[in-house]
Amino acid sequence: MDASSDEVLVAGECPVCPGVGAAVMVASVESAEIFFACPDCGCAWRTPPSGAVDSVDPPSRFAPAGFRLAHRKDVETAGLLPLFVRTEPLAGGSGDFEGIDGFVAGAEAG
Ligand SMILES: [Zn+2]
Repeated sequence: MDASSDEVLVAGECPVCPGVGAAVMVASVESAEIFFACPDCGCAWRTPPSGAVDSVDPPSRFAPAGFRLAHRKDVETAGLLPLFVRTEPLAGGSGDFEGIDGFVAGAEAG
């Protein structure tokens, strides 16, 4: 078991479906650029959402070529570690992006 690759980095609660979804740190498969997305409602944000949001975009807006879960290494490289508030296990946690347009399951950072 390799626990380190089975974690989901969460930056806070989803403002669109609070109590259900979370703002999960994800990365473009093309550029490894970090952004935030909720697996429950399929919304995505360039910066961590807080409070009311008036912009709701699909992940494809930030990652036209697809996206994957961000790894701790990606987040560290981008200098965004201060933004993440907790981790969740991939299984049964907030990492279930199956069915969200553009999600590439199992894609690894280089
Ligand atoms: Zn949501």
